[in-house]
Amino acid sequence: MKYIALLLCIAVGYIHSWTIDYLPAKQVSSPHFNRGRSGQAITCLTLHGTAGGGTVSWFQNPSSKVSAHYVVEQDGTVVQMVSEDDTAWHNGVVTTNSVFYGRPNPNLWCIGIEFVRNTQNNNIMPEAQIASGVRLVADIKRRYRGINIYTHDQFNVGRTCPGPNFPLSRFKNA
Ligand SMILES: [Zn+2]
Repeated sequence: MKYIALLLCIAVGYIHSWTIDYLPAKQVSSPHFNRGRSGQAITCLTLHGTAGGGTVSWFQNPSSKVSAHYVVEQDGTVVQMVSEDDTAWHNGVVTTNSVFYGRPNPNLWCIGIEFVRNTQNNNIMPEAQIASGVRLVADIKRRYRGINIYTHDQFNVGRTCPGPNFPLSRFKNA
């Protein structure tokens, strides 16, 4: 079975080996990314809420066409799915009323973190998940000095992401 999977990978030219950027993370690759950053410097960290579970498998599902660099599970497990060197597909459409409208695609200059939340994106997040997210954000801040922390709804205005009861200040102060 393993050999068949390997042959299929070779057949479609989809071998992209990468190493995790955040050592405590578990590596699970998503096929949804573009190589590199098209010359854009990483200046932004976008925080999201998932609006339900099953995120890691959804980001692997060819029909989803979405991904993020990191998924933080409710128990605090951190999964890295796309290399920070590459462009993940998490920021989506920038609405015309966003301050970021007209700038290059934010996926190119942002790192994306998804926090697994309930389907309404409004639950009180478990402390284990928040603490784990704070450690991840602190590590990213250390590696990208001066990086800005934004939420998805600043790009896609009107979207409920990351949603109510999101402990943004904890991550900003990480
Ligand atoms: Zn989002």
